[in-house]
Amino acid sequence: MNYVAHNPVESIVHALFRPTGVGGVYARTALFEQVIDGLSALISRYRQPDTEIFRFPPIMSRAQVEKSGYLKSFPHLLGCVSCLHGTEPEIRKVVETSGAGKEWIGALRATDLVLAPAACYPIYPMVAARGVVPAGGLRFDVACDCFRHESSYELGRFQSFRMREYVCVGTPDEVMDFRERWKIRAIELAERLALPHQTTAASDPFFGRAGKMMAVSQVEQELKFELLIPINSAENPTACMSFNYHQGHFGETWGIEAATGGVAHTACVAFGMDRLALALFATHGIALENWPQPAKEALSI
Ligand code: AMP
Ligand code: ZN
Repeated sequence: MNYVAHNPVESIVHALFRPTGVGGVYARTALFEQVIDGLSALISRYRQPDTEIFRFPPIMSRAQVEKSGYLKSFPHLLGCVSCLHGTEPEIRKVVETSGAGKEWIGALRATDLVLAPAACYPIYPMVAARGVVPAGGLRFDVACDCFRHESSYELGRFQSFRMREYVCVGTPDEVMDFRERWKIRAIELAERLALPHQTTAASDPFFGRAGKMMAVSQVEQELKFELLIPINSAENPTACMSFNYHQGHFGETWGIEAATGGVAHTACVAFGMDRLALALFATHGIALENWPQPAKEALSI
């Protein structure tokens, strides 16, 4: 039977993804990945000189996530790697008595790994281990597959998605300058790709009632900005990039010293790769040949 799309969102989903049986987790088609590859290469061309590159696995140290404050701020989003521990007979007993299939879940125990919730967390302890940050600061290009236990799965909200980030560690002036330059560069990038966009002060989805106050203060202090592009609707555009100033949070947590003395500040610019690709398809349609020429050139299509 031929597939009949009932609305534009449904036809995009069908052209780009296949279901895996779990909400917010998809198999991605070659069409989608072609655009992801083009975006990755384009973002690399924006990389500043003296930027060190790391690609992290989709899992990271649980202790580092705890220490970085993620567990307190976003416990509802975190995923932890759990395994069956014990001797072979103990493990066999658990899986073989799993009649209806659920008993083994009760026997799972946490390991020292969590699923990476963002790409930049592992970089701060690495920088701390190197000693004082050199004059001029440090810049990194990092990426990994991220997991977030989202509560809804509308188009663009995945449980598993790819994040690329540029990170800066240095004095407050150096990192603020880095973030401001990136806000301008991101707008340039969106315009090159002919994507309708707006930049707005934003907040992270902090947990609980105390979290609401943290979110308000984050907006007031303009610590986070987002570049929004329509995916589901023009009225409610989706955050496809974020520009984050952490002040001395990671510097204090990990004991990172700036060249001028005092605690190092940090900032990161995050590209939601899957959302950027989706925004391109939502804006220009699923036929790549009909995309605007400058966008095709930028993406090597
Ligand atoms: P954040 O750390 O929340 O600012 O996330 C950085 C970027 O990752 C966002 O601007 C989004 O583009 C992307 N992102 C965050 N959460 C998700 C998600 N659940 N699904 C897809 N992309 C996401
Ligand atoms: Zn980051």
